[in-house]
Amino acid sequence: MITKFIKRILRRDPMVKHTHASSTGAPKRIPKKSHRIDPHLLSKNAVKVTHTLQQAGYEAFIVGGAVRDLALGISPKDFDVATNATPDQVQRLFRKARLIGRRFQIVHVTFFGKGHPEIIEVSTFRALLDNAGDHVAESGRILRDNVWGSQGEDAARRDFTINAMYYDPSSETVLDYHGGMADMQKKTLRMIGDPAKRYREDPVRMLRAVRFAAKTGFELDSATRAPIAKLGKLLNDVPSARLFDEILKLLMSGYSWRAIQGLKEAGLHHGLLPLLDHILDDGEDSKGANDFVRLALANTDERIQSGKSVSAGFLFATLLWPDLLKNWKANSSKGMANIPALHDAMDDTIATQSSGMTIQRRFESDMREIWSMQPRFERRVGRYPFRLIESPRFRAGYDFMLLRCATGELNPAIGQWWTDFIAADPAGQEELMASAKNESGNTASPAKRRRRRKPKSAIPPESAAS
Ligand code: ATP
Ligand code: MG
Repeated sequence: MITKFIKRILRRDPMVKHTHASSTGAPKRIPKKSHRIDPHLLSKNAVKVTHTLQQAGYEAFIVGGAVRDLALGISPKDFDVATNATPDQVQRLFRKARLIGRRFQIVHVTFFGKGHPEIIEVSTFRALLDNAGDHVAESGRILRDNVWGSQGEDAARRDFTINAMYYDPSSETVLDYHGGMADMQKKTLRMIGDPAKRYREDPVRMLRAVRFAAKTGFELDSATRAPIAKLGKLLNDVPSARLFDEILKLLMSGYSWRAIQGLKEAGLHHGLLPLLDHILDDGEDSKGANDFVRLALANTDERIQSGKSVSAGFLFATLLWPDLLKNWKANSSKGMANIPALHDAMDDTIATQSSGMTIQRRFESDMREIWSMQPRFERRVGRYPFRLIESPRFRAGYDFMLLRCATGELNPAIGQWWTDFIAADPAGQEELMASAKNESGNTASPAKRRRRRKPKSAIPPESAAS
């Protein structure tokens, strides 16, 4: 009896806490001719990292979203590496390596080349813990030592099968523990393990499901989709900063409109951003707002897909604009002067958002700047335009104003006037100032202007996406 017990203890790897029998299954080895990953899409630095680790006797693979994107033939935006070397061991192998995080340490290896520095995130295989909370609690080292695991365990604690593949650049082989490659071929997004249990562990996975479905165009497997209807409310308990990060990723995925539709279909949009509640309720009165937001998102998607940057402040400024306009109008009709009415409306709009996901301060100031610039585009007299053009955030305010023109909220001639004004030489600018003077009512407030004009139907959705 005693010897049996001792044998059992000895069989255990002291570094690894094995908790799931299923996680120890052997992976499928997929050779190059089947996965067809193009090595040209690899980051040279990521390959350097796996190579250096392998030379030092460790296992090292490119992992996660990068392998998924490579298998789709897309160039990954960042590269993660997984290894059986501990963070300290990793750090010793690279000159520019920094330990990040306390509970689960990972290593950022930075490479400086032309353009932006590239960070390769290196993480040690992590154990699958039945009750992760016990092991990652505030306590110290012993727990931390315990969380390193085998590659099989590392695979089982990832979210979707297509996110749990490991690629070895030296042998050009993919290790696939959960049938990710088969799911890629079936264009299916499937949660590893029991979906309901995995959503309870981390409700953000429901948002990730929607985001990846939008990005890849894959269908959610029915068992992966089914529990979301019931468990969606668990998102209420997720800290607002984490929700914000996830929503930001969703909006910046290059497929934001599709993702927002996905949120709606999954019943996940309520309470994330009050704004999403409005725009996704198809009532007639939200049509104008929908058109504006749809155009803004189409514009964002297009920029991201063509590799241009998008500022989060700009994006949120557009998403909240319909709400802001409503508040602004209400204030004006109470007799408030135009500019104070706008500023008061900005406060209200931002405060409303705090009920769900709070928008971080750094974006809030961008939003305020973009919004408060809007009435200034209509004051084309004296030195105003010359001063406006000098504002540090002019470009963002101008782009925003063009969106308003595109939906017919603002007279498109004003947008054209500014486009000409930016391009003109000093003499040309004076001429444009003279022409603006002759137009009637160019200093009218948007609130008054709107009341006078019949509401125009905004541009149809088809042209918004082009
Ligand atoms: P993206 O292209 O948006 O970066 P990604 O798949 O790389 O997509 P990350 O958030 O960078 O997503 O995460 C990297 C990997 O870590 C994922 O592919 C997945 O394997 C794992 N992962 C991330 N978040 C979770 C989570 N909440 N639950 C389980 N696994 C996760
Ligand atoms: Mg990633």
